Amino acid sequence: MLDFTDRATLPDAPREFGFWSDGYWRKGVAMFERRSPGHGVPVTLTPRCTVDDLNAAVAAARRAFEDRRWAGLPGADRAAVLLRTADILRRRRDEIAYWEVLENGKPISQARGEIDHCIACFEVGAGAARLLHGDSFNSLGDGLFGMVLREPVGVVGLITPWNFPFLILCERIPFILASGCTVVVKPSEVTSATTLLLGEILSEAGAPDGVYNVVTGSGRTIGQALTEHPDVDMLSFTGSTSVGRSCVHAAADSNFKKLGLELGGKNPIIVFADSDLEDAADGAAFGISFNTGQCCVSSSRVIVERSVAREFEEILAAKMAKIIVGDPLQTKTQVGAITTDAQNSTILSYIDKGKAEGATLVAGGQALDLGGGQYIVPTLFSGVTPGMSIARDEIFGPVLSSFHFDTVEEAISLANDTVYGLAASVWTKNIDKALVVTRRVRAGRFWVNTIMAGGPEMPLGGFKQSGWGREAGMYGVEEYTQVKSVHIEVGKRAHWIK
Ligand code: NAP
Repeated sequence: MLDFTDRATLPDAPREFGFWSDGYWRKGVAMFERRSPGHGVPVTLTPRCTVDDLNAAVAAARRAFEDRRWAGLPGADRAAVLLRTADILRRRRDEIAYWEVLENGKPISQARGEIDHCIACFEVGAGAARLLHGDSFNSLGDGLFGMVLREPVGVVGLITPWNFPFLILCERIPFILASGCTVVVKPSEVTSATTLLLGEILSEAGAPDGVYNVVTGSGRTIGQALTEHPDVDMLSFTGSTSVGRSCVHAAADSNFKKLGLELGGKNPIIVFADSDLEDAADGAAFGISFNTGQCCVSSSRVIVERSVAREFEEILAAKMAKIIVGDPLQTKTQVGAITTDAQNSTILSYIDKGKAEGATLVAGGQALDLGGGQYIVPTLFSGVTPGMSIARDEIFGPVLSSFHFDTVEEAISLANDTVYGLAASVWTKNIDKALVVTRRVRAGRFWVNTIMAGGPEMPLGGFKQSGWGREAGMYGVEEYTQVKSVHIEVGKRAHWIK
């Protein structure tokens, strides 16, 4: 019996999972072995599904959509399933957090906080299921009445990344299900366990068979086949901008499925001289180190007013040096392991590029050997110029670049100097500056004197090459609907043929 409490240790043997299709666990033939990035030992075995498995799951989702077993229910009944799911998640919180830690490498206390957020997503999704509604037009004259119906888009394909396997899932699933859609999920092959567990949880909560399906396997086989599938009505993809681009091509070449894309970011944090520098430095350290900087919304560029730049960087470097990097199973750990070998090499190569391109290393800059697993110390570069690769590319790791500015216009221009537009933050005590920057910086999520705050009531999504559409809240549930305009003649028709 595994212990999921604060005394949790590694499993003696990897846990074997099936995949979840049409309401039941199904046995995989070939299996993928996942090693814990924090410890280097095998922790899970998940199926390498075939395209036939995917086709069967899509067919199950199609049946469950077309026979109205889900979309035909009152919103209140869908809400009841989502609320029961929230209750089960509350009961199984530490267990889900445990598998998240073992597959992803994030600290256990962080993972538990994420499950709490996921519970809130299901509660907000339940509210959305009851509140979703269309519109009416009483302005078309006495002879015509207009209604706008919101109808579920149909079968949704959902592809999720490895950085927040359960959180990103739960920022989408309650809203997909609230709308009346059915879904086939393809999680990242390296972090599939918790997405699979949600299958049995939703089933226990009363979701009919076929409403939620999970097909595991690699992006290149199962992910690609899902993007190209002619019977999937909408694809919600969260991941890199390059794979997002391939989803657009696949949608165009198959059935013009509707797309939601949540892609990369190179997010600015603008610090004015009049801000509370201690607060801003704490926010910047958190913004780049949380989840080892492997967040789409990680604030990877700090843009600080020149008059306080040196003082700010000193405060920030001192704070970063105090961050506890270590074994993700320890509750005191703040920064855990880098999730994949490839990502670890990418981050270290960017640290080398930063040094080679002439930036000044102010904090961190090296891997940490804990005798197993892969760890990188939160890193700060100063004197970064816009042409450097650490200034432009999404590193997706704990590497922060510092830029300096003299005027508000210069700060805005530096913040917008990226192909991305996912998130941004501004720190100032001056309300005018805060509002000017908030309105002029092109980003889908904005924070003033805080960072990465919020809840599932608020929409998520990006401008520019950070994606299309919004997830979460009422905006999110509406993404999974199609709008139908209905025109109703009132009274006797005025005849065309006299
Ligand atoms: P990724 O390589 O694009 O993978 C994302 C998902 O797509 C995974 O499930 C992956 O499966 C799958 N995939 C890979 N190749 C595919 C293909 N050809 N067709 C269909 N699916 C395919 O991204 P990642 O490295 O996992 O995640 C990091 C990126 O995600 C970063 O750019 C980050 O900014 C972005 N991200 C964005 C948000 C947001 O909300 N905007 C949130 C989190 C992450 P396998 O892993 O099994 O290959």
